[in-house]
Amino acid sequence: MAGKRCIIGLFPARRGLIAIAAAVAAALALLLLSGPQAATPGGDPRLTDAGRALTDYAVTLRLNDQDDTLAISETVRYRNDTGDTLASLVARTWLNAFQTEETSPAAAEELYDACYPEGFSPGWLTLYDVLWNGERTEYAFVNGDQTALEIRIPELPSGGEGELTLRCVAHIPACAYRVGRVGRDYQLGNVIPLLSLYENGAWRTDEYAPVGDPFVSACADFHVTLHLPEGYVPACSVPLQKGGDGAWRGDMKAARDIALCAGPDYIAVRGRAGETAVCSYAKTERGAKQALEYAKKALETYSALYGAYPYPAFTVCAVSFPFGGMEYPGLCMIGEDGYREDRADTLELTVAHEAAHQWFYALVGSDQALQPWQDEALCEYAMLRYVRARYGQGSYETLKYYRVDAPMREKIPGGLTPASPIDYFGSLADYRAVVYGRGAALLLALNELLPDGADGFLRAYADEYAFRYASRADFEECLNRYAGMDLNPLLLDYLDTMMD
Ligand SMILES: [Zn+2]
Repeated sequence: MAGKRCIIGLFPARRGLIAIAAAVAAALALLLLSGPQAATPGGDPRLTDAGRALTDYAVTLRLNDQDDTLAISETVRYRNDTGDTLASLVARTWLNAFQTEETSPAAAEELYDACYPEGFSPGWLTLYDVLWNGERTEYAFVNGDQTALEIRIPELPSGGEGELTLRCVAHIPACAYRVGRVGRDYQLGNVIPLLSLYENGAWRTDEYAPVGDPFVSACADFHVTLHLPEGYVPACSVPLQKGGDGAWRGDMKAARDIALCAGPDYIAVRGRAGETAVCSYAKTERGAKQALEYAKKALETYSALYGAYPYPAFTVCAVSFPFGGMEYPGLCMIGEDGYREDRADTLELTVAHEAAHQWFYALVGSDQALQPWQDEALCEYAMLRYVRARYGQGSYETLKYYRVDAPMREKIPGGLTPASPIDYFGSLADYRAVVYGRGAALLLALNELLPDGADGFLRAYADEYAFRYASRADFEECLNRYAGMDLNPLLLDYLDTMMD
């Protein structure tokens, strides 16, 4: 069913309600600005609160550049807050998808040559110990690509606690992807096993799709000890300091994931955006400095629009992969291609999009596998707002034309809408056009409709769901309450309706 946009008809009829919503929103914004929302030295109070009863990971990592392995030892203090009695936990072992060409997301036809220039190279996890409260326990992989490890435990009632210990070795493939070794550099995203998300009475066991980001997890606290080969420098999502014994250590509160890049010849430059330490790693000083400036500008812009940046540090790191960038809490991997001297504009837009994920993905979690628009479209829209804030209305209109208006007119294979799950998409180009471009059109429509624009709503949404997980129903409820009207028909039209 092809949809006609209903925004024009809706706006005049509801203007009275909008005015009331505007007054309420303005009062709320004032309250938030003067209350706990304001940034304080030493961290975001929302972070302290969120960190109180989260799952706690103590992780020790040892990278070996002789055999391309990462030894992982982790102790997970888990508290069952699901409301259900649990007989098993599920940990995500995403690296196992790289075992075969059939399951590797990097072996998809459109990526293969870029990711495996020297031919296929397998990656996998070898498990050594799986313990629950110090006792060996049964475990099995429960999905097709062995990326979901079910761990049997004695019945754990809601509110109960226990300690999971995992010891394993990650075999890193030679692969230019989120995970892989390229030359002497290691890019290690989604390598360390983490507990999956439990929702609606079950653990999520999504497979590693080649298009989009299949990762869904709750916020947790991390304590990391990292041993690197001589001469290697880490760019880690968890801020690390080198100790006298040569090991790198650091902590991070309320993060959904942990990722690391390490290489022998990264150049690091550092700066600040307000209270936040910003670090940039690249192969050239020019590139590192350029990305640092964009990262600082992005954090400043989004902190003003959507509330304080949630973590004490933010890192951008150049990596070799055929994507613009990839987000983790506190860290964005940025494709090396963007660092070329003739591509400064691309680099800035990529950093701006990825940095926006610190609000829409890291701070507010959502279902990246089944409702990918809920972070991607929001970040694409935020990137447009960044351009408007920095370069004015003309640049914003031009970019909007290329990133949103053009995808609205593009011919896309049938059946795809912005709210399609990631595994419906056969190509990155379609995914970008539909989920990012057409998805962002929803936010532009809301921007016309809402008295404080879409930014006012996104700020309220980010504050309400800070360090939590917002389902699509949560997003809709939050939006309708903010707007003071039922906008579900508008969402249905933009997100779920096929275009001609
Ligand atoms: Zn994105």
